[in-house]
Amino acid sequence: MDLGSGGSGGGTLARALSGIGLPERLALASRSIAGRLVFTTSFGIEDQAITHAIFSAGLDVHIEIVTLDTGRLFPETYDLWEQTEERYQRRINAVSPDRGAVEALVNRQGINGFRHSVEARKACCDIRKVEPLGRALAGAAGWITGLRAEQSAFRAAVPLAIHDEGYGLIKINPLADWSRQDLARYVIDNAVPYNPLHDRGYPSIGCAPCTRAVRLGEPERAGRWWWEQEAKKECGLHLVPTQKNLEHSHDRL
Ligand code: SF4
Repeated sequence: MDLGSGGSGGGTLARALSGIGLPERLALASRSIAGRLVFTTSFGIEDQAITHAIFSAGLDVHIEIVTLDTGRLFPETYDLWEQTEERYQRRINAVSPDRGAVEALVNRQGINGFRHSVEARKACCDIRKVEPLGRALAGAAGWITGLRAEQSAFRAAVPLAIHDEGYGLIKINPLADWSRQDLARYVIDNAVPYNPLHDRGYPSIGCAPCTRAVRLGEPERAGRWWWEQEAKKECGLHLVPTQKNLEHSHDRL
């Protein structure tokens, strides 16, 4: 089942991924996708579960683990990064923003200028996240993420596998159908290290100045860019799977 170059599986991979466990999903993805396979972690609890599964099964031989170091992460996130490397005795490669672009951005809009408008915020996310992601995925045939459908209405249609038109690769979301409870159980059962901010009301953790704790009953991503409207709360890394591109993708997967 080689789907790495756009393939002709006719729904094979997406169907094969359902009904099996996380390590099996990752192993199947690594066998099925010919070419470079990249997992991007931001050290959230979803990503920590995937990191554990990859390292514990020795799948890092096939799957590169990288993180986008925006330079604005919480101290707790940097501590977790170090703790994770120590636990698994592996390095997690950093991709940093272009220094000149960050300097120009900060000189133009100020150190926290992303709070001034949606456009200013997107400009910051573009420089600190989207452009580095493009470099991280350059030449890759597959991209593994920790997206879950339950995280927000925006992500409700996230599939287990989809052909990502934007990056021209197969995007695997091995936790797409997991609930928060499924995730918590996996993390506890496997003693996976996780960010202590999760226990302090932060279900979703991004850059420090753009993330706050959520209140009881709020959606998981309500604490991200809380000053913006719900529909806009994405940093531009993930395209929304519309019905149209889902149908198109199902033809290819
Ligand atoms: Fe900039 Fe905030 Fe986006 Fe981080 S989340 S890249 S600090 S706008």
